[in-house]
Amino acid sequence: MSGRKRFFIEKLDYPRQTEAILSGEEFVHAKTVQRVEEGSEICLLDGSGREYTALVVKVDKRSLTAHITGAYDGEKEPKTHVYLLCGALKGDKTELVVQKATELGVSKVGVFNSDYCSAFMNHNKLERLCKVAREAAKQCMRSRAPEVVYFDDFESAVKSAKQYDNKLFACEFADKSDADISQISGSTALVVGSEGGFSESEFAFAKSEGFAGVTLGKRILRAETAAISLLSLAAYFLGELT
Ligand code: SAM
Repeated sequence: MSGRKRFFIEKLDYPRQTEAILSGEEFVHAKTVQRVEEGSEICLLDGSGREYTALVVKVDKRSLTAHITGAYDGEKEPKTHVYLLCGALKGDKTELVVQKATELGVSKVGVFNSDYCSAFMNHNKLERLCKVAREAAKQCMRSRAPEVVYFDDFESAVKSAKQYDNKLFACEFADKSDADISQISGSTALVVGSEGGFSESEFAFAKSEGFAGVTLGKRILRAETAAISLLSLAAYFLGELT
């Protein structure tokens, strides 16, 4: 299946539905970048974890029609739910984090505003992050793109991780870790700050909500390095990198 170009589409009702219409950005990408044409075999992803093989039967100006020929469960999705919460970063650094987090298998990314955060978010930026997640998911052969959400306040971001089994908070001013990351199993939420880092009161609040502070060593890492490192460690100990 790896040779087929992959495209996200809205939820399919296969086998009742055997025809799919690809439109919008994914269609433009299919036609102008991937050069999909009538007769091409493609792979459709509807976000359910299923993957659909399809034969393109018609290419119009604004959409294409594909006949679905089969469906199977995607094999690249992680077994464990990992939720990365990351402070909004300047420039295109949040995009970098979303891209790498998608490759490392997160199921959700929450971007948040916090006391010392100086990057701003808006609807367009959030849309862009969702697109980055979709593109990264396709590139690394996942069948789902992680959900990307934004929290205008840090408290709501922390509270959104309530149901996770493990809750780890990368704290740049912690001398030691309050949890042993090598022992984690089950769903995992990870919090990493923005360039400005965290205030003592934000750390205290996260702890009151069940987060354990973890250190990533004695050097201060850039936020994107911290996010990717912590996520890699968690994915490794959850058995997702083997
Ligand atoms: N402005 C902060 C300072 O000067 O101390 C540094 C913030 S750091 C660039 C961004 C985020 O990365 C932190 O809030 C933390 O979540 C994470 N981080 C960076 N280095 C870390 C470390 N050694 N241990 C734990 N977390 C770290």
